[in-house]
Amino acid sequence: MKKTVIIIGAGPAGLTSALLLAREGHDVIVYESDKEYVGGLSRTVLHNGYRFDIGGHRFFTKEKVVSDFWEKILQDDLLRRKRTSRIFYKKTFLSYPLNPAELIFKLNPLETAGFILSFFKVKMFPRKRKDNFENWIISNFGQKLYQAFFQSYTEKVWGMECSKISSDWAVQRINNLNITALIKKTLMQLLRIKNNDIKSLIEEFDYPKLGPGMLWEKVRDEVEALGGTIVMGAKVNSIHQINAQWKVSLSNGEESPLANDIISTAPLRELIKGINPQPPDNILKAVESFSYRSFVTVAIMFRGRNHFPDNWIYIHDPRVKVGRIQNYGNWSAAMTPGLDCVCYGLEYFCQRDDDFWKLTNEELFELAKKELDILGLKYSQEELDYKVIKSPYAYPIYDLSYKERLIQVQEYLNQFSNLHPIGRSGLHRYNNQDHSIKTAMLASENIRLGHKKFNPWKVNQDAEYIEEIKL
Ligand SMILES: Cc1cc2nc3c(=O)[nH]c(=O)nc-3n(C[C@H](O)[C@H](O)[C@H](O)COP(=O)(O)OP(=O)(O)OC[C@H]3O[C@@H](n4cnc5c(N)ncnc54)[C@H](O)[C@@H]3O)c2cc1C
Repeated sequence: MKKTVIIIGAGPAGLTSALLLAREGHDVIVYESDKEYVGGLSRTVLHNGYRFDIGGHRFFTKEKVVSDFWEKILQDDLLRRKRTSRIFYKKTFLSYPLNPAELIFKLNPLETAGFILSFFKVKMFPRKRKDNFENWIISNFGQKLYQAFFQSYTEKVWGMECSKISSDWAVQRINNLNITALIKKTLMQLLRIKNNDIKSLIEEFDYPKLGPGMLWEKVRDEVEALGGTIVMGAKVNSIHQINAQWKVSLSNGEESPLANDIISTAPLRELIKGINPQPPDNILKAVESFSYRSFVTVAIMFRGRNHFPDNWIYIHDPRVKVGRIQNYGNWSAAMTPGLDCVCYGLEYFCQRDDDFWKLTNEELFELAKKELDILGLKYSQEELDYKVIKSPYAYPIYDLSYKERLIQVQEYLNQFSNLHPIGRSGLHRYNNQDHSIKTAMLASENIRLGHKKFNPWKVNQDAEYIEEIKL
């Protein structure tokens, strides 16, 4: 049966479901609040010939169905990149993921000895509690490594103490330290023995020639070619259930036609608050305290020498607010308008409506230049330009009680067979593009089948699915 499906958001999750459903012959209408860009957090911004992401977006996945999806669309435009990233720590550049040989030779030997001793101490006398981020990291790596490489950076990213962050974040992001592999790797490096292991995801990743937005622009074009509708600058304010069908109201007062199914990638809190008839009070209360970490990118462009080889640098330096610095020409040469053109992306983490968020674009540009000077990272004055992008819903926050509240909300939403929350903010889950795509695939299949056979909430629940190993 041909269905009409409304999709809220033209990010990776929304556009993937639009494409899969349009390919099956269903009528899809996508409402996207951004006036210009599709791709959501995975869009690529174009400014005077320079392109940059909202945080560099590596393409990697364990799911073949997902890599097949993007490889088929991008074909030769998907580049294989060697990862180069370092940590700026105590005015020294250290490889990231950390390289044990460098810890020995580049840092104060006493500090390195402290890392090793505190690591073995915690292995001999393990901590019983691993319930929050701090306890989890100390249990796995020891107090000293935690203090040097996890605590201040994580608190900068999340804006809260590590003891108040759920250990789910660590489980999702960081694998256990494999001490045997670490010692083997160190010895091989010290003895200069070549390591012929298959290149891991940590060392290489894929990246579209013109940034991740290139994928989503191609998907948009295919959806439209198949007859789907994508309405830009259309913010959905509320959704209304009418005789087992759905329609949406937009912020400009317009309404959609009735649809058989509705897919939402809007932040879960906003979806719940916009449902009509209104959800019960306990559900409204449960989402009220869902919070999101916001993200500000200050892209600085200039003509001149490219001063560092990294894709990005993590900044562990209390003198500055910047958390990470991208160098987009190193992701793909086509991201800048010429080989003598450079684009840095200075990345800041903040809370929507805090003092940092309220800084004007000019103030942010001045701050970014000042911080580059403090760090000794050079830029030239020739054709110096900038662009600021603010993302209010960048990271769903995992505080210590988010999980119980999320389960309540899931149970409430599961009663609707034709309302499908998916994606990252849509599920309040720290999902990458590949997970968001997978949730869209499952929801599209559920719509095709007419019942919720597959569970998008389960995507990326697997503790084995580790994005990267920090040590
Ligand atoms: C700094 C940073 C770095 C990242 N790095 C990587 C990486 O290296 N690799 C990777 O795979 N992933 C990365 N990600 C994650 C990736 O960006 C997300 O997983 C992905 O974009 C999520 O897709 P989505 O469609 O679920 O949500 P989003 O990308 O958030 O898209 C949702 C869309 O819905 C729209 N929308 C929301 N509410 C409404 C509404 N009410 N009405 C209409 N439209 C609405 C938004 O404008 C947006 O376009 C990174 C994310 C960040 C923040």
